[in-house]
Amino acid sequence: MPTIGIDLGTTNSCMAVFRNGRAEIIANDLGNRVTPSYVSFTGNERLVGEAAKEEATEYFKNTLYQIKRLIGRTYDDPSVQADMKLWGFTVINDDNKPKISVVHDHKRNVFRPEQISAMVLEKMKIAAEAFLGETVTDAVITVPAYFNHAQRKATRDAGLIAGLNVIGMINEPTAAAVAYGLDRQSDSERNVLIFDLGGGTFDVTIVKIKGRKFDVKATGGDTHLGGEDFDNILVKYFVSEFKQQRGEDISENKRALNRLRVACEAAKRKLSSSTNAKVQVDALQGGHDFRSSISQAKFENLNHSFFERVLDTVKNTLSDSGLKKENIDDVVLVGGSTRIPKIQAMLEKYFDNMKLKRTINPDEAVACGAAVYASSLGFVKDPALEEFALEDVIPLSIGIKSHGGKMSFAIPRNTKIPTKVRKTRSTVADNQERMGIKIYEGERALIKDNHFLDEFTISGIPPAPRTKGEVEVLLEINACGILHVEAIEKITGNSSEITIARDKGRLSENEIKRMVQEAEKFRERDQELKQRCNARNALENYAYTVKEGVDQKNLTRQQRESIMSKVTEILQWLDINKTEPPEMSELEEKKRELEEISQ
Ligand code: AMP
Repeated sequence: MPTIGIDLGTTNSCMAVFRNGRAEIIANDLGNRVTPSYVSFTGNERLVGEAAKEEATEYFKNTLYQIKRLIGRTYDDPSVQADMKLWGFTVINDDNKPKISVVHDHKRNVFRPEQISAMVLEKMKIAAEAFLGETVTDAVITVPAYFNHAQRKATRDAGLIAGLNVIGMINEPTAAAVAYGLDRQSDSERNVLIFDLGGGTFDVTIVKIKGRKFDVKATGGDTHLGGEDFDNILVKYFVSEFKQQRGEDISENKRALNRLRVACEAAKRKLSSSTNAKVQVDALQGGHDFRSSISQAKFENLNHSFFERVLDTVKNTLSDSGLKKENIDDVVLVGGSTRIPKIQAMLEKYFDNMKLKRTINPDEAVACGAAVYASSLGFVKDPALEEFALEDVIPLSIGIKSHGGKMSFAIPRNTKIPTKVRKTRSTVADNQERMGIKIYEGERALIKDNHFLDEFTISGIPPAPRTKGEVEVLLEINACGILHVEAIEKITGNSSEITIARDKGRLSENEIKRMVQEAEKFRERDQELKQRCNARNALENYAYTVKEGVDQKNLTRQQRESIMSKVTEILQWLDINKTEPPEMSELEEKKRELEEISQ
């Protein structure tokens, strides 16, 4: 059974398979190499990919996109709060979990972000099966290097809901490094900096590549920085310009905002190859057209602080890796937003006019690397990957809550995985019997600013004066990034442990099971709808064939009139039911009526 690699992107998704010694991109059902990460609910239909994206303007309330910006986050996350204001669809708060509310099939439906991402993944799975001609279950899904534990788990859950067996996850820039390294086929050692700026996330990873060995030195990034932020800046700029031009405020008009966003994204792309771009939207609000333009210089000025942030991350990651910029042999660009000339110019300047490597396809490299990794994990190894070895790092530090709400760092960020660390915790009271161990992830000094992972309590500590009772905490991260924590009381040997495979607030096994069943129902509905559409088209064709045949046959006037009246009735009926195909039984009944009369 083939294993595939899927790059589940904020804006677009892409997938590949490794076979016959090379990674091959799998095109979707329309023949496109990337699929928009969009899901749209229109009437009683569920659309995914290109078809869904086309509905973004008309069915803006029910067209979902940028879901990767919600996945694994809490409702009160400031970035969720800011994004919500710009989206056409509605995000609701369910016990601090963001959920998406849409109207589908005349009913209100509420989805977890994992379920929506699963719909995109399922579409990819189906396309992969059509391309490869066999069932595809095993997959590697990519995640931004800087995704935290919750975001990784939620992405994995999305895979499970889509019916995939997620055999591994790989950081997006690491995957790009693999694609780059295999493409280059060089045996000399090179330090490569992968600069990955996509639609919603930004990652920098420094990898030492030697032959087919990939050793990640450091990784840094921002899970909420990318092309969509540049679009948002443009939207805000033009909202205020429209207000000046027409005295109308469109900031609450989600339809108008959506239409303006499409125009802004197109202008942004144009500015990567021209110095000026027009932004035009007909009847934006109150019947007023919007006509404006923006220069490349103005675009760069508006996004100045974002671009600065990008460069700061490069500097910090270099410092974490212990390398100097002079030690970097190649800077490789990945992600659609690296086409922005200013970004390229800033990087070139920082690396003393080094020529940036744009030899790998920025939209496809991540999927190709994921396919290589998937193949290396699969049962049948491709001979081309015999010497393949990948060592990755953890992007965020792991720590334990210590006295006064402070974070006691146990595994610093950029530690190679797998790893094992021991920490000793002392009692804080005389004759303390129990000790709570709370695990966090993040870089801040106080745990309240970091991300809570899980907790447990160890009991049966023998009586001792404060600070004399001791517990040893063993933290272990395996190659898949799963953290296992164990605490052992030193004298008695009592122990307690947890595996942080599913942190608080994420989906339980039962919830995933339920969502898998729901996804199954959607699949059946889609299938049924497709069947009805096909039957509707077949009946329409049949009606036209009968109509054409009437003139050629030797019929009485009465016969001709009765056939034509049935044909007209059926064609009118089909026309009325154009948007929503009728039930199968009704279609069959009409077909039977036409058959009877025409025979
Ligand atoms: P990715 O997530 O790698 O597919 O990148 C998608 C992002 O790249 C979106 O925000 C696009 O608007 C952006 N993008 C694609 N092409 C260009 C371009 N020529 N200039 C600027 N941004 C682009």
